[in-house]
Amino acid sequence: MFRDKEFALRVARSIRKLSGHLDEVKIMDFCGTHEWTITHYGIRSMMPENVELVAGPGCPVCITPGYYVKAAVKLAMEGIRVFTYGDAYKLPTGRREEPSSLEEARSMGGKVEIVYSVMDAVKKSRDGRESVFLAVGFETTAPATFIPLKHGEAPNNLSFLVAHRLTPPITRYVLDNFPDNPISGIIAPGHVSTIIGAKAWSFLPKEYGVPTVVSGFEPVDVLLSILEILRQIRDGRPRLVNEYSRAVSWDGNLQAQKLFRDVAQVSDAVWRGIGVVPESGLILSEVYKEQDAETRYGIDDEGWDDLPPGCRCAQVTLGMIKPTDCPMFMKSCTPESPYGPCMVSSEGTCNIWAKHSGASVINLPN
Ligand code: SF4
Repeated sequence: MFRDKEFALRVARSIRKLSGHLDEVKIMDFCGTHEWTITHYGIRSMMPENVELVAGPGCPVCITPGYYVKAAVKLAMEGIRVFTYGDAYKLPTGRREEPSSLEEARSMGGKVEIVYSVMDAVKKSRDGRESVFLAVGFETTAPATFIPLKHGEAPNNLSFLVAHRLTPPITRYVLDNFPDNPISGIIAPGHVSTIIGAKAWSFLPKEYGVPTVVSGFEPVDVLLSILEILRQIRDGRPRLVNEYSRAVSWDGNLQAQKLFRDVAQVSDAVWRGIGVVPESGLILSEVYKEQDAETRYGIDDEGWDDLPPGCRCAQVTLGMIKPTDCPMFMKSCTPESPYGPCMVSSEGTCNIWAKHSGASVINLPN
């Protein structure tokens, strides 16, 4: 069980009581860490029948198009050293040809190295070897990628394959394009909001009438956020609440936001299995093009719909199905041997469900 158990149970009971006044409610959490909290601590089991909690597209590894992986694999096999974070190491290209991931590329002699930070890649590249850093992540990780470029610390032999994505545009996209999947409330991501600020989510209640809470990651944070969303639905007064004010300010990290503007430009971008989402990606600006791996090597971005055949990861990341609805879940697709991208990273919904579903089931006393 978790900290503040008695208080958490009181909040859960308030959720149950309030839900009696409501129709069906579907609340989407955006962040993989929220999904982890909900699944690991059995928060779904505490929900009344008419309150459904679904995961959204909050795992950057899951939505990184396969063509970035394919490009990185090709470079690695040609002898160019590719640096990657560990969570993208097993990410499948989506194609059947071998090697179909950086892990396979390394086992077949490709030059792949796992690093824990961009600065590791920068330091190692000072040996002069031609190298590429595969930069995956949302607004939280993008500043780390951009700092060595901005400060002139990245040697010219190191280029960047930038697959960073922005979170508010995909949330807008989900609400605009899937009317059959109505979302009644959104638990906005905590980590991302430390960078972009709570204000980045104000469009959700204003333009879409969707109650929105920026939430922390303790079970109590998530339960309080759910309760707040239900209250807003009951009262018919959608608004933005920052439940995570101990870490997230209204304006966010202004220095990091300036870094985005200095080093990158916003562009339309592909989300794996989902398609092109307007203004949802970051590309390096002209000043830094020389160290842009896409420019340096030319990247074939064909085939955005590149999930491995039969993988339903896109529907999982859009909150339309549960991982257990996929016939491959825990059969031909497991955390040890992932078939689709949502099973690769510890932030992927399928991976979280595989490791933590059933870890806790809370029988709520009356
Ligand atoms: S269980 Fe595997 S194959 Fe199925 S949706 Fe998830 S990642 Fe894709």
